[in-house]
Amino acid sequence: MAYDYDDDNIFAKILRGDIPSEPVAETEHTLVFRDIRPQAPVHLLVIPKGKYVAYDDFAANASAEEIVDFHRTFAKVCAEAGVSPGAGGAGFRTIGNAGPDAIQEVPHFHFHILGGRPLGPLLAG
Ligand code: AMP
Repeated sequence: MAYDYDDDNIFAKILRGDIPSEPVAETEHTLVFRDIRPQAPVHLLVIPKGKYVAYDDFAANASAEEIVDFHRTFAKVCAEAGVSPGAGGAGFRTIGNAGPDAIQEVPHFHFHILGGRPLGPLLAG
């Protein structure tokens, strides 16, 4: 794994408190906040507090504690946002972009949680 982490990326600034966000959940290792340009009625971003660039970086290099905390927090906010089919919701889509082909805008690992309306086919183009 050969990722370089950019300490000046926008989510690093949010984690440092340099710029504001609209948080919906926070744990020791994970932060969840609303996307500033929502693409659906529910559009949350789940990020680890650690310095990981993309999901494969996180999956390969984060501690077991960070990985469990991230995923448990993910499940909790899906239920709380009302999109988890397992909790009576109509569903959601998770997107995790990595690198230029996926047009990753912010190089700090994050999962998008999108829901609250029918989301259409998996890929637009
Ligand atoms: P990605 O292309 O997967 O890297 O997506 C980055 C996401 O971060 C986009 O959906 C942006 O709208 C969102 N975003 C960028 N800046 C902020 C910010 N300051 N607060 C919340 N969301 C942001």
